[in-house]
Amino acid sequence: MSLTLHGLGVSKGIAIGKVHILKHEPLEISEYCLPKQHLDEEILWFENAHSLAREQLQEISARIPKDSTVDIAGFIEAHLLMLDDSLLSQIPRDLIYKHQCNAEWALKIQCETIVQRFEQIDDPYLRARQDDIKQVVTRIQRILRGYPDPSFDLAVKDLSHAIVLADDLSPADTVLMRHHGILAFATEYGGTTSHTAILARSLAIPAIVGLHRASPYIQPNETVIIDGTRGVILVEPDECSLHYYKMRQYDEKRYRAALGKIKSSPSITRDGIPITLDINIEFPEDMITVQRVGGEGIGLYRTEFLFMNRVAPPKEEEHFEAYRQVLHALKGEAVTIRTVDLGADKQVTDSRYHEGVATNPALGLRAIRLCLKDQKLFKPQLRAILRASAFGKVRMMIPMVCDLQEIVQVKKIIENIRNDFREKSIEFDPAMLIGVMLEVPAMAICMDFLMPHIDFLSIGTNDLIQYTLAIDRNDEAVNYLYNPLHPAVLRLIKMSIDAANQAGKPISMCGEMASDSRYIRLLLGLGLRTFSVNPESYLEVKQIIINSNLTKLTHIANKIMKTGSQADILELLETLNIQV
Ligand code: PEP
Ligand code: MG
Repeated sequence: MSLTLHGLGVSKGIAIGKVHILKHEPLEISEYCLPKQHLDEEILWFENAHSLAREQLQEISARIPKDSTVDIAGFIEAHLLMLDDSLLSQIPRDLIYKHQCNAEWALKIQCETIVQRFEQIDDPYLRARQDDIKQVVTRIQRILRGYPDPSFDLAVKDLSHAIVLADDLSPADTVLMRHHGILAFATEYGGTTSHTAILARSLAIPAIVGLHRASPYIQPNETVIIDGTRGVILVEPDECSLHYYKMRQYDEKRYRAALGKIKSSPSITRDGIPITLDINIEFPEDMITVQRVGGEGIGLYRTEFLFMNRVAPPKEEEHFEAYRQVLHALKGEAVTIRTVDLGADKQVTDSRYHEGVATNPALGLRAIRLCLKDQKLFKPQLRAILRASAFGKVRMMIPMVCDLQEIVQVKKIIENIRNDFREKSIEFDPAMLIGVMLEVPAMAICMDFLMPHIDFLSIGTNDLIQYTLAIDRNDEAVNYLYNPLHPAVLRLIKMSIDAANQAGKPISMCGEMASDSRYIRLLLGLGLRTFSVNPESYLEVKQIIINSNLTKLTHIANKIMKTGSQADILELLETLNIQV
């Protein structure tokens, strides 16, 4: 019987295919007291699971694409080393004998002991390695309990042409998914600007999040249609629906092909105002898509994906190599490298394994706060960015600044690195621009104080909206409040653009609002002249720019700024978007 379920469409497009279900079911581990005569059997059971875990990891390792710039191989290698360490290979056996308990329980107590030792480590990055121990232990426990392992599925199974349905996908999971040729995905949790959603858009695959409790209604291998534009999933569709969606797929293909025609047109409005249209990337490989759509500069290079699915943070050389690769592909255009924005929704490993996480990670030690606390993590990146600046146009951007002291501190560290480079005759661009992301309302309110400290700004609406409206961008329960058209958000954007223009500092927008076709004309009307968008939205945004007449837009945009009624704002926005 066919069935329709609704969620939040976060990446446009239609996909039709067979469903593959990934479930991160939590493991309930209980203790069983075993009679003495069964202990040898339990040890054998443990040994089998332990060797199976090794086989799984070796298989994942063998399937990692050779051209992967993410160090998954190093990550798997570390898991193999942990697995073979006597802490996980011998001590659990001793514990089975000592406590006369089942293997899962012995692993649980041993894991707790190891994790306690990790907790005492000062370095936050190393402390986070306890997640790897937990993941290795969970892998053996899952085998012991006969549970499937979702990350094993992602790394090993042939999921090409599959539609993945998961309870949740971490950014680390989505990194694994990049190599699969998955048609689309749908998750039960997650918000519109969660990183999983952003990655889906950058991969140009349809995606839906927030499909509450959908999995009981969908069986593995059933045919589903994902409509990422409307946030609808059709399970076992009838012939009529299949026909309708195939037609829509065809229309979309034609629309994309037609957009290709403006690939080399300049992004100038009808009344002759040039608009800078940059692109957001997450991986050096994204440069292939950038070239495919005819993109030029990179307005946001999110570097946190260099840190994911691995044990140790990337070294200076790895950073440098990634940045050089991007610069090489850019052929003289500029790249804005954002210093790492880890924490909150961008954990280095799967946050589901975290126990000692902050009560409110979005307001906690993330982005520049984490970097300034853990400079061993930060300095190699700063050194690599500075070195890369000798090879092309590099701008450095600091995320989540909320206090001017943070900029002062970063600049001090950079000055020390420059002095070191001068002493060692290492080349760098002394005029490299240093800017910030405008994501915390406090900074938008204090633009006049901020201006003297920076060379440029970029509005990160994903976080700016989250912090202005006090709603978690990843929490689908409050997603209905996530509103880029809230008057407070619009005022902060307008204030920032005006203040930057007055100070003569370049300002752009790299949050997802700038990639959303509904808001382009409004942003133009508010005075925005530089957009940085996800690669798949690039041509669509360009087309809107080419078809816009700024003189006409400004008048309606000003009217929008004067009303507090959402109904009026939406009506005016519609008028704005149909203007010729
Ligand atoms: C933003 O907050 O708008 C942004 C671009 O940064 P991120 O989505 O990576 O947090
Ligand atoms: Mg942000």
